[in-house]
Order: sequence, then C-alpha cells, then structure tokens
Amino acid sequence: MIWCPRCEQGWVVKCRVVGTEETFGICEECDTVWAAEEPSSRPPFTILDEYMEKFGKAPLWSNLERLEKGTETAS
Ligand SMILES: [Zn+2]
Repeated sequence: MIWCPRCEQGWVVKCRVVGTEETFGICEECDTVWAAEEPSSRPPFTILDEYMEKFGKAPLWSNLERLEKGTETAS
C-alpha cells in the first residue's frame, strides 16, 4: 500500500465501488480518491463525495468493497 501523499496520516487502499467494475485508491484518513493515476501530492484532488456522485451513491465506506486489507490487519 501507499502512504497517503496528501495528508500523510493514512494508507491509500484499493477499493471497488460496489456493483461496478470501478476500482480506485482511497486514503483511509482524508478520503481522497485517485481513480486512474498513481497517488500524488499534487492537486487537483478528488474526494470521495464527488467521486461517488458519478455513480449516484452516497459517499459511505459501506458502498465500497475493499480489495486489500486495511492497516489493522496488515502484517
Ligand atoms: Zn490522506
């Protein structure tokens, strides 16, 4: 996983929007989304609210499927 280059407080985890094939990276702390590109500290940033709007879904983690483990289970 990649340490968030924006907030430097959390990990960027790979997720999928439930019910779609869209995968993206999201920071567990600041909810910044990187859809296609590698996480970068340079703007523009996409936040989860805007990203989920495209799919007509609420910006909730329950609408996301984690494709890799979070920090709590990482070894
Ligand atoms: Zn972050």
